[in-house]
Amino acid sequence: MTETLLKNADLILTMDESRQELSKADILVRDGQIARIGRGLDTQGDVHDVSGCVVTPGLVNTHHHLYQTLTRAVPGGQDALLFGWLQTLYPIWSRFGPEEMFTSAQIGLAELALSGCTLSSDHLYLYPNGARLEDTIAAASELGMRFHPTRGAMSIGESDGGLPPDHLVEKEAAILDDMVRVVDAFHDPSEGSMCRVGLAPCSPFSVSRDLMRDAALLARDKGVMLHTHLAENDEDIAYSQAQFGCRPGQYAEELGWTGPDVWHAHCVKLDGAEIDLFSRSETGVAHCPCSNCRLGSGIAPVRAMRDAGVKVGLGADGSASNDNGNLMLEARQAMLLQRVANGADAMSAREALEIATRGGADVLGRPDCGRLMPGKRADIAVWDTRGIESAGSWDPAALLLAGPMSVKHLFVEGRQIVRDGHITTIDLPRVIERQNTLARALQA
Ligand SMILES: [Zn+2]
Repeated sequence: MTETLLKNADLILTMDESRQELSKADILVRDGQIARIGRGLDTQGDVHDVSGCVVTPGLVNTHHHLYQTLTRAVPGGQDALLFGWLQTLYPIWSRFGPEEMFTSAQIGLAELALSGCTLSSDHLYLYPNGARLEDTIAAASELGMRFHPTRGAMSIGESDGGLPPDHLVEKEAAILDDMVRVVDAFHDPSEGSMCRVGLAPCSPFSVSRDLMRDAALLARDKGVMLHTHLAENDEDIAYSQAQFGCRPGQYAEELGWTGPDVWHAHCVKLDGAEIDLFSRSETGVAHCPCSNCRLGSGIAPVRAMRDAGVKVGLGADGSASNDNGNLMLEARQAMLLQRVANGADAMSAREALEIATRGGADVLGRPDCGRLMPGKRADIAVWDTRGIESAGSWDPAALLLAGPMSVKHLFVEGRQIVRDGHITTIDLPRVIERQNTLARALQA
C-alpha cells in the first residue's frame, strides 16, 4: 500500500457533483486513487505541504496531434487557412519516422503536463517510414501520463480528389488491420486504465464513406471510442455539401458516428439541429479555441452546446496550428471567446475550468477522472498562488482570470511527474535538444 498526503491546501476545487470548494483541506491518496478529502488527515507515507496553493483535478486534453510539435511556426503555414496550411505541411510530415513520432510526443506531453494536464488523447493519422502508434504510447508511458492514443488514418490522396499527397495515404484494408492490431495490443478498458486506444479516421475529406462506416463497426465490436475532425470551418461545410449532399452532422449520423462513444474535434460550424443531435445522442465535442483562432475558423458555439447538454472538453490541437501546448491557456481562451461571442457573463472562470477537467474526462468516457472525490483516480494539479500572477487576487478559485498557467506539482495515478515546476520522469533538457536536432534535419 502506497500513500501520499497533500496537506493544508488553501483551496481544493473538487469538481464533484456539487462543485464543492474546500478551504484549508487535505487529500489522501492511496494506491493511485483518492482515499479521503478533509481536514486533519494523516499518513505514514509521503507528505506534501501545499499551503499557499490551489488544488484542482488534472486537466484533460481531448484533441492533439503530438507529432506536430516538430513543425511549430513553419513559415509557409503561419498565416494560411486550414486547407492551404495542410498542403504546406504534408510534404514535411511525410519525412517523419518512429524517432520523430516518439520525441515529438514526449515534448508535447511534457508541455501539457507542465500546464496541469494529466490525461491526454492524441490523434495520429499518418504513419510514414515505419512510424507506428506505439511510438507515442512509449513516450506517454515513460513520462507517466494517462494516455488515449487514437489510430488515425487517411486513405484518399490527391489522385482520388482528396487533399493529402498519395504517398501519405494508406490502403483501407491495411488501416483496418492495424486498427485491430493496436486495440488488441494496447487498449486497457479497466477502471484506472493508463492507456485506452480509439479509432480515428482523420476527417470526412481524407477517408472514404466505407472507411468511416467500417471504423464505426469495428469500434463497437471492440468496445473502443471513435474520434475525428468535424465541421471545422466554412470550407469544411462546403466540402460536405458538395461531396455528400448534406451537412457534417447528418453525414456523421448516417455512418454511425454519433453516440456516447464518439467525440468530434472542433465543431465550430455546428448548427442548431446538429447541436440537438449531439445532445440527444450524447456525442462529445473537443473544443480547440486557440487553433480555431490561429486558423481563423471561427468561434465554436460552446455556450449553446453546454446549454443544450452537449458534453464539451478542451483540446490544444496539434502544435502546428496552435502553436502552444498549454492547456490552461486553452481554458482561458475558451472563456474569453464565449465572452466575445455572447457577452461578459457568457462563461465564468469556474465553468471554463470545469470544461478543462471534468468536462474533458466525460468526453473521453472517463468518469473515474477529472474530479477530486474518494474513489476517483488521483490525477491532481497543484497551483502555487503566491506568485506574481495571483498577487492581489480576491478569488483564488478564479485561476483562469488571475493565476499561474503552469503547475507547481502534478500527480498522475498518485505518482508525482512534476515537482516544483520540473518534470521528474524524463530528462527534459535532453529531449528538447533531441527535438531541435530533428527539427533542423527536417529543414535541411
Ligand atoms: Zn486536429
